[in-house]
Amino acid sequence: MFLPKIRELSEALRSLFSAPFTSKFPAKPHQPAQGFRGFPEYHEEFCVGCGTCAQVCPTNAIEVFNDLTTRKRTLRVDYTSCAQCGQCEEKCITGKGIQLSQKFDLSVADLKDDAVYNSVEKELAICEACGAIVACYDHLRFVKERLGAKAYANPNLLLITQQNFSEIPPSSIKDRLRREDYVKILCPKCRHKVVVIDEF
Ligand code: SF4
Ligand code: SF4
Repeated sequence: MFLPKIRELSEALRSLFSAPFTSKFPAKPHQPAQGFRGFPEYHEEFCVGCGTCAQVCPTNAIEVFNDLTTRKRTLRVDYTSCAQCGQCEEKCITGKGIQLSQKFDLSVADLKDDAVYNSVEKELAICEACGAIVACYDHLRFVKERLGAKAYANPNLLLITQQNFSEIPPSSIKDRLRREDYVKILCPKCRHKVVVIDEF
């Protein structure tokens, strides 16, 4: 009868003089444990702007904005919709373009506050014939690296490689697509017209 009481008393005394197991958050910043899955963040140097992360996000927390005027693509993750599931990180084609951080606390008065977003911006390659989006330049460079020498069979990849060595003067399409337009940045539909239909 007395023994359990003595054990409880000794445990109470021990916990009274030992360090607390809980942190003092929010009075003091909390340092999450290693491997904690917090909000994802873009890493500009590894992201190529492919948009895969937006397609796999189960909560549609990632949006893709294409601005044809400035030729920029913006990928933006909205933390108010993010479930911290890690799908975006897992399926990222470079493996490091978006990574879960240690960030977990989100306290804002206005949901339009910049703190609830994280974004990255990439330059778009535009079809020189019809103005459609081809891909982001970084994505084309990424594909080119993966293909190695085979990349030179694709005029778009050939052109972006050539840009590394010399500046390519701006070109223009005449009244319609011709065979001479083969070596231009083209979307698949216009490439099809030049290569397959071959009506010239
Ligand atoms: S962690 Fe999950 S929910 Fe959050 S942005 Fe990535 S895929 Fe979407
Ligand atoms: S490279 Fe990764 S982070 Fe960047 S858009 Fe593609 S999937 Fe998303």
